[in-house]
Amino acid sequence: MSKLKVIASLCFSAVVFSTQAEIQLSGEIKQGGLILGKTQANDSVTLNERVLPVSSKGDYVFAFSRNDTKKYILKVTSPDGSTEQKTLIPVQRDYKISRVEGIKKSIMNPNKKANERAKKDRKMMIEVRKISSDLTDFSQGFIAPRKARITGVYGSQRFYNGVPKNPHFGVDYAGAIGSPVKAPAAGKVLLWVPDMFYSGGTLVIDHGHGITSNFLHLSASLVKEGEHVKQGQVIAKVGNSGRVTGPHLDWRMNWHKVRFDPQLAMKVIPLN
Ligand SMILES: [Zn+2]
Repeated sequence: MSKLKVIASLCFSAVVFSTQAEIQLSGEIKQGGLILGKTQANDSVTLNERVLPVSSKGDYVFAFSRNDTKKYILKVTSPDGSTEQKTLIPVQRDYKISRVEGIKKSIMNPNKKANERAKKDRKMMIEVRKISSDLTDFSQGFIAPRKARITGVYGSQRFYNGVPKNPHFGVDYAGAIGSPVKAPAAGKVLLWVPDMFYSGGTLVIDHGHGITSNFLHLSASLVKEGEHVKQGQVIAKVGNSGRVTGPHLDWRMNWHKVRFDPQLAMKVIPLN
Protein backbone atom coordinates (compact mmCIF):
# COMPACT_ATOMS: atom_id res chain seq x y z
CA MET A 1 0.00 0.00 0.00
CA SER A 2 1.40 3.40 -0.90
CA LYS A 3 2.01 6.01 1.78
CA LEU A 4 -0.78 8.17 0.38
CA LYS A 5 -3.31 5.35 0.58
CA VAL A 6 -2.39 4.66 4.21
CA ILE A 7 -2.99 8.27 5.13
CA ALA A 8 -6.29 8.28 3.26
CA SER A 9 -7.52 5.15 5.00
CA LEU A 10 -6.47 6.49 8.41
CA CYS A 11 -8.43 9.67 7.79
CA PHE A 12 -11.40 7.64 6.66
CA SER A 13 -11.27 5.54 9.85
CA ALA A 14 -11.13 8.66 11.96
CA VAL A 15 -14.39 9.82 10.41
CA VAL A 16 -16.13 6.46 10.66
CA PHE A 17 -15.22 5.85 14.30
CA SER A 18 -15.79 9.40 15.49
CA THR A 19 -17.95 9.28 18.61
CA GLN A 20 -19.55 12.65 17.80
CA ALA A 21 -22.58 11.81 15.65
CA GLU A 22 -23.32 14.48 13.04
CA ILE A 23 -26.57 16.42 13.11
CA GLN A 24 -28.26 15.69 9.79
CA LEU A 25 -29.52 18.83 8.00
CA SER A 26 -30.47 19.80 4.45
CA GLY A 27 -30.75 23.36 3.13
CA GLU A 28 -28.66 26.52 3.01
CA ILE A 29 -27.68 28.28 6.25
CA LYS A 30 -28.53 31.60 4.69
CA GLN A 31 -30.98 34.49 5.19
CA GLY A 32 -34.33 33.29 3.79
CA GLY A 33 -33.18 29.65 3.91
CA LEU A 34 -35.33 26.63 4.81
CA ILE A 35 -33.65 23.83 6.76
CA LEU A 36 -34.88 20.24 7.07
CA GLY A 37 -33.53 18.11 9.90
CA LYS A 38 -33.64 14.39 10.60
CA THR A 39 -33.08 12.62 13.89
CA GLN A 40 -34.59 9.80 15.98
CA ALA A 41 -38.30 10.11 16.71
CA ASN A 42 -37.80 10.24 20.49
CA ASP A 43 -35.09 12.92 20.44
CA SER A 44 -35.90 16.47 21.42
CA VAL A 45 -34.64 19.37 19.33
CA THR A 46 -34.17 23.02 20.29
CA LEU A 47 -33.10 26.02 18.25
CA ASN A 48 -31.77 28.45 20.85
CA GLU A 49 -34.58 28.32 23.43
CA ARG A 50 -37.27 27.26 21.00
CA VAL A 51 -38.47 23.64 21.04
CA LEU A 52 -38.96 22.25 17.51
CA PRO A 53 -41.55 19.51 17.07
CA VAL A 54 -40.09 16.19 15.84
CA SER A 55 -42.29 13.87 13.76
CA SER A 56 -42.68 10.12 14.29
CA LYS A 57 -40.11 9.68 11.49
CA GLY A 58 -37.67 12.10 13.11
CA ASP A 59 -38.34 15.07 10.82
CA TYR A 60 -38.11 18.68 11.96
CA VAL A 61 -37.90 22.02 10.19
CA PHE A 62 -37.00 25.68 10.67
CA ALA A 63 -36.12 28.71 8.56
CA PHE A 64 -34.21 32.01 8.63
CA SER A 65 -35.87 35.37 7.98
CA ARG A 66 -34.84 37.95 5.35
CA ASN A 67 -32.57 39.97 7.67
CA ASP A 68 -31.62 37.28 10.17
CA THR A 69 -28.24 38.06 11.77
CA LYS A 70 -28.61 35.90 14.87
CA LYS A 71 -26.37 33.07 15.94
CA TYR A 72 -28.24 29.83 16.58
CA ILE A 73 -27.42 26.78 18.63
CA LEU A 74 -29.25 23.72 17.34
CA LYS A 75 -29.31 21.06 20.03
CA VAL A 76 -30.49 17.46 19.72
CA THR A 77 -31.02 15.56 22.97
CA SER A 78 -31.52 11.78 23.07
CA PRO A 79 -33.80 10.08 25.62
CA ASP A 80 -30.64 8.92 27.49
CA GLY A 81 -29.64 12.57 27.98
CA SER A 82 -26.75 12.68 25.50
CA THR A 83 -26.68 15.76 23.32
CA GLU A 84 -25.23 16.94 20.03
CA GLN A 85 -25.15 20.54 19.00
CA LYS A 86 -24.29 22.69 16.04
CA THR A 87 -23.81 26.45 15.71
CA LEU A 88 -25.62 28.02 12.77
CA ILE A 89 -25.04 31.57 11.52
CA PRO A 90 -27.12 32.45 8.45
CA VAL A 91 -25.04 33.93 5.62
CA GLN A 92 -26.09 37.48 4.75
CA ARG A 93 -27.55 38.30 1.35
CA ASP A 94 -27.88 41.38 -0.83
CA TYR A 95 -31.36 42.03 -2.10
CA LYS A 96 -32.52 43.67 -5.30
CA ILE A 97 -34.45 46.90 -5.59
CA SER A 98 -37.69 46.47 -7.48
CA ARG A 99 -39.90 49.26 -8.82
CA VAL A 100 -43.56 48.76 -9.64
CA GLU A 101 -45.28 51.60 -11.49
CA GLY A 102 -48.89 52.06 -12.50
CA ILE A 103 -50.60 51.01 -9.27
CA LYS A 104 -54.14 52.42 -9.06
CA LYS A 105 -54.70 55.47 -6.81
CA SER A 106 -57.41 53.63 -4.86
CA ILE A 107 -54.83 51.01 -3.88
CA MET A 108 -51.91 53.41 -3.26
CA ASN A 109 -54.06 55.65 -1.05
CA PRO A 110 -56.73 53.36 0.37
CA ASN A 111 -59.81 54.97 1.92
CA LYS A 112 -61.01 54.19 5.45
CA LYS A 113 -63.09 51.20 4.41
CA ALA A 114 -60.23 49.73 2.40
CA ASN A 115 -57.81 50.26 5.29
CA GLU A 116 -60.15 48.41 7.61
CA ARG A 117 -60.39 45.61 5.10
CA ALA A 118 -56.60 45.41 4.79
CA LYS A 119 -56.28 45.33 8.59
CA LYS A 120 -58.77 42.47 8.82
CA ASP A 121 -56.90 40.55 6.08
CA ARG A 122 -53.59 41.01 7.88
CA LYS A 123 -55.07 39.71 11.15
CA MET A 124 -56.44 36.65 9.37
CA MET A 125 -53.05 35.90 7.82
CA ILE A 126 -51.23 36.33 11.15
CA GLU A 127 -53.67 33.90 12.80
CA VAL A 128 -53.33 31.31 10.06
CA ARG A 129 -49.52 31.38 10.29
CA LYS A 130 -49.66 30.46 14.00
CA ILE A 131 -51.03 27.02 13.14
CA SER A 132 -48.71 24.10 13.78
CA SER A 133 -50.11 20.76 12.59
CA ASP A 134 -48.46 17.31 12.66
CA LEU A 135 -48.49 17.09 8.88
CA THR A 136 -45.01 16.17 7.60
CA ASP A 137 -45.45 17.07 3.93
CA PHE A 138 -42.66 19.67 4.22
CA SER A 139 -40.16 16.79 4.54
CA GLN A 140 -40.75 15.70 0.92
CA GLY A 141 -39.39 18.92 -0.61
CA PHE A 142 -41.03 21.52 -2.85
CA ILE A 143 -41.60 21.87 -6.59
CA ALA A 144 -42.42 25.00 -8.61
CA PRO A 145 -46.15 25.83 -8.65
CA ARG A 146 -45.85 26.95 -12.27
CA LYS A 147 -43.64 26.16 -15.24
CA ALA A 148 -43.25 29.80 -16.15
CA ARG A 149 -40.83 32.70 -16.15
CA ILE A 150 -39.94 34.13 -12.73
CA THR A 151 -40.70 37.86 -12.74
CA GLY A 152 -40.09 38.76 -9.10
CA VAL A 153 -37.86 37.35 -6.37
CA TYR A 154 -37.79 37.07 -2.59
CA GLY A 155 -36.45 39.89 -0.50
CA SER A 156 -36.36 42.72 -3.02
CA GLN A 157 -37.01 46.20 -1.64
CA ARG A 158 -40.23 47.34 -3.27
CA PHE A 159 -41.11 50.80 -4.48
CA TYR A 160 -44.73 51.19 -5.62
CA ASN A 161 -45.15 54.26 -7.85
CA GLY A 162 -41.84 55.46 -6.32
CA VAL A 163 -42.97 55.01 -2.70
CA PRO A 164 -40.92 52.56 -0.58
CA LYS A 165 -43.09 49.76 0.84
CA ASN A 166 -42.51 46.38 2.52
CA PRO A 167 -40.00 44.09 0.83
CA HIS A 168 -41.35 41.51 -1.58
CA PHE A 169 -41.47 38.13 0.15
CA GLY A 170 -42.78 35.97 -2.65
CA VAL A 171 -41.61 34.55 -5.93
CA ASP A 172 -43.63 35.88 -8.86
CA TYR A 173 -44.40 33.69 -11.84
CA ALA A 174 -45.74 34.95 -15.16
CA GLY A 175 -49.12 33.65 -16.28
CA ALA A 176 -52.32 34.65 -18.00
CA ILE A 177 -55.57 34.80 -16.05
CA GLY A 178 -56.83 31.24 -15.58
CA SER A 179 -53.50 29.44 -16.00
CA PRO A 180 -52.90 26.61 -13.54
CA VAL A 181 -51.21 26.81 -10.13
CA LYS A 182 -49.91 23.52 -8.70
CA ALA A 183 -49.34 22.56 -5.08
CA PRO A 184 -45.55 22.75 -4.44
CA ALA A 185 -45.95 20.04 -1.79
CA ALA A 186 -48.83 18.07 -0.35
CA GLY A 187 -50.80 19.62 2.48
CA LYS A 188 -54.14 20.80 3.76
CA VAL A 189 -56.04 23.89 2.58
CA LEU A 190 -56.18 26.30 5.53
CA LEU A 191 -57.77 29.34 3.95
CA TRP A 192 -59.36 30.64 0.78
CA VAL A 193 -60.42 34.29 0.57
CA PRO A 194 -61.35 35.48 -2.94
CA ASP A 195 -60.92 39.22 -2.36
CA MET A 196 -58.27 40.39 0.09
CA PHE A 197 -57.46 44.07 -0.37
CA TYR A 198 -53.75 43.82 -1.28
CA SER A 199 -53.35 40.16 -2.13
CA GLY A 200 -56.68 39.58 -3.92
CA GLY A 201 -57.68 35.91 -4.22
CA THR A 202 -55.57 34.31 -1.48
CA LEU A 203 -55.08 30.60 -0.77
CA VAL A 204 -53.07 29.14 2.12
CA ILE A 205 -51.81 25.54 2.27
CA ASP A 206 -50.46 23.92 5.45
CA HIS A 207 -47.44 21.63 4.88
CA GLY A 208 -47.01 20.87 8.60
CA HIS A 209 -44.93 22.06 11.61
CA GLY A 210 -45.76 25.72 10.87
CA ILE A 211 -44.71 25.61 7.20
CA THR A 212 -47.34 27.25 4.99
CA SER A 213 -47.58 28.39 1.37
CA ASN A 214 -49.58 31.46 0.36
CA PHE A 215 -50.77 31.98 -3.21
CA LEU A 216 -51.76 35.55 -4.07
CA HIS A 217 -53.74 37.45 -6.73
CA LEU A 218 -55.64 34.31 -7.79
CA SER A 219 -58.75 34.39 -9.95
CA ALA A 220 -60.11 31.14 -8.52
CA SER A 221 -59.44 28.29 -6.12
CA LEU A 222 -60.12 24.72 -7.21
CA VAL A 223 -59.97 23.39 -3.65
CA LYS A 224 -61.90 23.96 -0.44
CA GLU A 225 -60.78 24.78 3.09
CA GLY A 226 -60.00 21.55 4.97
CA GLU A 227 -59.24 19.59 1.81
CA HIS A 228 -55.98 17.61 1.50
CA VAL A 229 -54.01 18.20 -1.69
CA LYS A 230 -51.23 16.22 -3.35
CA GLN A 231 -47.92 17.60 -4.59
CA GLY A 232 -48.39 18.76 -8.19
CA GLN A 233 -52.20 18.89 -7.98
CA VAL A 234 -53.74 21.91 -9.74
CA ILE A 235 -55.20 23.91 -6.85
CA ALA A 236 -55.93 27.36 -8.27
CA LYS A 237 -55.92 29.71 -11.25
CA VAL A 238 -53.69 32.73 -11.86
CA GLY A 239 -55.41 36.11 -11.60
CA ASN A 240 -54.86 39.86 -11.34
CA SER A 241 -56.73 40.61 -8.11
CA GLY A 242 -55.35 42.96 -5.43
CA ARG A 243 -52.29 45.25 -5.70
CA VAL A 244 -51.01 44.23 -9.14
CA THR A 245 -50.33 45.76 -12.52
CA GLY A 246 -51.12 42.56 -14.38
CA PRO A 247 -51.90 38.87 -13.91
CA HIS A 248 -49.22 36.75 -12.20
CA LEU A 249 -48.80 34.26 -9.37
CA ASP A 250 -47.11 35.35 -6.15
CA TRP A 251 -46.05 32.34 -4.04
CA ARG A 252 -44.91 32.98 -0.47
CA MET A 253 -43.68 30.60 2.19
CA ASN A 254 -43.74 30.92 5.96
CA TRP A 255 -42.38 29.10 8.97
CA HIS A 256 -44.85 30.66 11.40
CA LYS A 257 -43.86 34.38 11.49
CA VAL A 258 -40.67 33.81 9.51
CA ARG A 259 -41.05 34.40 5.78
CA PHE A 260 -38.45 32.42 3.86
CA ASP A 261 -37.41 32.16 0.21
CA PRO A 262 -39.43 29.66 -1.88
CA GLN A 263 -36.55 29.44 -4.38
CA LEU A 264 -34.21 28.25 -1.61
CA ALA A 265 -36.93 25.85 -0.39
CA MET A 266 -37.11 24.22 -3.84
CA LYS A 267 -33.37 23.48 -3.67
CA VAL A 268 -33.61 21.61 -0.37
CA ILE A 269 -33.04 17.88 -0.83
CA PRO A 270 -35.33 15.70 1.33
CA LEU A 271 -33.59 13.56 3.99
CA ASN A 272 -34.40 9.88 4.10
ZN1 LIG B 1 -45.40 39.47 -5.98
